[in-house]
Amino acid sequence: MDERGQIKSAREIGALLEIEGRQIKSSEGTIFVGCSDGDQFNDVYRHHCHVCEVLRHHPLLLNGGAMLLSKHSPIRGAKRDGTVFLRHINAASCIKHITTVVLYVHAPCGVARAAKLDFWEVMRLLVEAKLRLLSQRGSRKLKISCFCHVDFNGGDSPQKKRTYFVDREAMTELLKANGREVRF
Ligand SMILES: [Zn+2]
Repeated sequence: MDERGQIKSAREIGALLEIEGRQIKSSEGTIFVGCSDGDQFNDVYRHHCHVCEVLRHHPLLLNGGAMLLSKHSPIRGAKRDGTVFLRHINAASCIKHITTVVLYVHAPCGVARAAKLDFWEVMRLLVEAKLRLLSQRGSRKLKISCFCHVDFNGGDSPQKKRTYFVDREAMTELLKANGREVRF
């Protein structure tokens, strides 16, 4: 199944959900973990500010975004970069008193393509990123949500860009059914 087919099936079973107004409730703002991709960041971030209804966010950006946080990430340098992310997430939470972390990935992502990761593999790394954050000592007070931005035309038209909330349970089931069981 190609990437579009994978995205379609994830939407059909409710693993990717449309974000309705005020789905991200955090008056204090969020710690935003995402990919640096400058062709997509503006759309991703603008939409994020819109659904949060606040502008106080703390963006932490590296190539590949939340995929780097999985302990099993095959992306080059992910071991080191994941640790960097963790340190900055914890620091941001302490310094700015923000307890909501949003983990973003996007498709198509150049980092995923370079590492030959299909959409389901990207989703697997995203879910594992959340699990890793939840398992950190002192992270128990953090509220962590996962999102995925999709550019359906791969071009400049903002009409074909969408951001989805990733339902962890439904996504975990879908991944398992397709031989991509989430790893701990
Ligand atoms: Zn990217």
